[in-house]
Amino acid sequence: MTCEDAHLNMHDYISGELAAEQQKPLMDHMDECPNCREFFRQTANIQTTMRDFMQYKAPHELQNAVSSILANA
Ligand SMILES: [Zn+2]
Repeated sequence: MTCEDAHLNMHDYISGELAAEQQKPLMDHMDECPNCREFFRQTANIQTTMRDFMQYKAPHELQNAVSSILANA
């Protein structure tokens, strides 16, 4: 596996779309490749942050406040 392949597979792995039989070659590559380990760590952090952000729901009061501001605009 090349580093380029590894990077592509990482995105699928983090989003849970990487086939089980493709996970081992990726893990083997990261065992040998510090660059890809670091890239994976950073990519995983960004994805987790994005997911938490997307799941964030505005509190009800804030939604109501925004709605009334928009209604009065
Ligand atoms: Zn690599």
